[in-house]
Amino acid sequence: MDVIKFLDLQKINAQYSKELKEAANRVIDSGWYVLGKELEAFERNYASFCGTNSTLGVANGLDALRLIFKAYIELGVMQKGDEVIVPANTFIASVLAISDNGLIPVFAEPDAKTFNLDSSKLEAAITKKTKAILTVHLYGQISIDQRMMEICNEYNLKLIEDAAQSHGAQWNGKVSGAIGDAAGHSFYPAKNLGALGDAGAVTTNDEPLANTIAALRNYGSHKKYENRYQGLNSRLDELQAAFLNVKLKHLQGDIAGRRKVAKYYLEHITNPSILLPEVVHNKGHVWHLFVIRTANRDKLQEYLYQHGIQTLIHYPVPPHKQRAYRSFNHMSFPIAEQIHKEVLSLPVSNLEDMEVIKRIVLIINNYDN
Ligand SMILES: *Cc1c(COP(=O)(O)O)cnc(C)c1O
Repeated sequence: MDVIKFLDLQKINAQYSKELKEAANRVIDSGWYVLGKELEAFERNYASFCGTNSTLGVANGLDALRLIFKAYIELGVMQKGDEVIVPANTFIASVLAISDNGLIPVFAEPDAKTFNLDSSKLEAAITKKTKAILTVHLYGQISIDQRMMEICNEYNLKLIEDAAQSHGAQWNGKVSGAIGDAAGHSFYPAKNLGALGDAGAVTTNDEPLANTIAALRNYGSHKKYENRYQGLNSRLDELQAAFLNVKLKHLQGDIAGRRKVAKYYLEHITNPSILLPEVVHNKGHVWHLFVIRTANRDKLQEYLYQHGIQTLIHYPVPPHKQRAYRSFNHMSFPIAEQIHKEVLSLPVSNLEDMEVIKRIVLIINNYDN
């Protein structure tokens, strides 16, 4: 029996192999490899996809988030020592982007059913030093609701989206990356919109912020050899931009394929020891990951492995329990910690053969906890 892979990137990119090779040839032959026409085209295309005035290509998703905070500091909107609220159950990059800028991450609990920030718990985390909420659209579902928007208005907080997993998800007629004040996107190969290497972007309608990031990603320079800020080298190169222009054209089809798999899982997994993810509304979810919960997670993972099904855990250890954040290790966020103990990600992509998905569901439904 063949092993059912968690995600087959080779097959995913093979679908677009001809177009990707043409794009690579175009860049190789152009003689221009950084900050050129391919990036300009991708920035226009992705801004139009998200519905924002600006998109700035950067080196990766972590840098996209780091640069947003760095730019707010340069603009005087935030200063070192200010606090940023972030979910306690996220990928470490969300937290690194905050602490790397000398800002203080303040963890808030998620809702155990959607895995996203619980807006009813946000006010308790706000102090005089709070300047922003970095909300994470985890697993591909929009994490913003009306209450969160009201809280940001009331307390004058910037709302920043970690949109690394949610390309194309929608809320209230707006697309992921166009809902808050600014958003960081990742095009890491395994993301729904994946490059063939590292890449990321910031989207925003805030013009001063966009101009500052445009300089910060390029040594802090608006004009060659004139440096306004102490910037970084964080650029999205022409080759990756060319690949992303190809893959962006196929993103809606990819999302449709993922939704089909997720719908099947949601309708057919009936094992009472398994908790399915709660969908707030269909357009709001693009199913970067299909994440279930179960009390004996490691046992279920081993059982599925024995039956030839690869699964992954996103993520086994919460940021506040990592050695990198030793000063937070004593803190307790019971909901986030329970999520990290119980989650398991099932295979999902636009390539899935529905017969294989049916087999996965049958095996899961036969699992005896
Ligand atoms: C992938 C990811 C990032 C970081 O993106 P990179 O491109 O890998 O730097 C940030 N936040 C979340 C939630 C992610 O999943």
